[in-house]
Amino acid sequence: MNFKIEAKNNVLLIHALVERLDTHSAPELKSILTFEHKKGQNKILINLEKTKFCDSSGLSAILVGNRMCKDTNGIFALSNILVICNNRHILIDCGEGTQLQLRKFNLPIQRINTILISHLHGDHFYGLPGLLGTMSLLGRTTGIEIFGPADLGDILAVIFKGSQTKLDFPFTFHPIAPTARTLIFEDAALCIYAFPLKHRIPCYGYAVQEKHQRFRLDIDKVEEAGFSHDHRKLLSEGVDFQRMDGTWIKYQDYTLAKPEVKMYAYCSDTMPFKKLTEYLDGTTTLYHESTFMEDRKQRANETFHSTASDAANQAVKSKVKQLLLGHFSSRYSQIDGLLAEASNLFKNTRAVRDGDQFEIL
Ligand SMILES: [Zn+2]
Ligand SMILES: [Zn+2]
Repeated sequence: MNFKIEAKNNVLLIHALVERLDTHSAPELKSILTFEHKKGQNKILINLEKTKFCDSSGLSAILVGNRMCKDTNGIFALSNILVICNNRHILIDCGEGTQLQLRKFNLPIQRINTILISHLHGDHFYGLPGLLGTMSLLGRTTGIEIFGPADLGDILAVIFKGSQTKLDFPFTFHPIAPTARTLIFEDAALCIYAFPLKHRIPCYGYAVQEKHQRFRLDIDKVEEAGFSHDHRKLLSEGVDFQRMDGTWIKYQDYTLAKPEVKMYAYCSDTMPFKKLTEYLDGTTTLYHESTFMEDRKQRANETFHSTASDAANQAVKSKVKQLLLGHFSSRYSQIDGLLAEASNLFKNTRAVRDGDQFEIL
């Protein structure tokens, strides 16, 4: 018997007695969970004290992610990333424990106004109902927009109905199922695109693109011409205008080239596939999952994941400026190997750890 079940104060405690919780032991745990859940038990805790390694790829679909494992030297492949662009706070994926991490790193929970969920494996969305509940408890009144696979809307509805939770702020759920790169959101500052990835279940990547930036003024020329504040504003917006004496002023004559538009793309769980390069067109900073190293390529294929080399090869093909690696299997107690493997192929690679901040290049 790999698991011992104990009832304690209304909670069912399942002790995992295995050192290695992987795809072999996962079905057994899954059947225990399903059986207990059908009996009406919904308060279940899993004690992983004796478990040294979890194979996240085999387990993310049930209840535990590699974040819960011990002996991983504090390296957790936290699935979610907060993107802050022109004052819009976008949370991409919301794995278990997200709200604790947001608080730990002093990130402003209530300023998140958009949440993008890639797919319905637990390590990417189990934290969402809790986060929304906390936002409400903290007195949130501002609305929030959530994008994700259609089933997510049903899951949230069941959870909130079953727990009789009423959120005190409006939230709008937008079901998505893109078959190519698709614009899903646009405001004055940015565009958000969604695109399909190749994983065991429907899974979507997201790209956040800065929108039209103002032209930078050629200050010497502008000063010399003595333009007013209003005229300078028009020039920076790329607008030609006529002066009182009838002369036309062309904005190109008084402005410098626009700065390059930045685009951050997030590829959560995926194996490599050809079309991805087309979907990532224009990306400047790429976050790409890197669950395994190349010596476990077969495992990566079986589980529809990528290796560090796959991520780096994609960065090369997409001609990005920066590659961020994440979603490491807990089998790696150190991530130096993953980083080295990717850096050999693509120099400007960073391995992302919880709480890291990085500039989108
Ligand atoms: Zn997944
Ligand atoms: Zn995952």
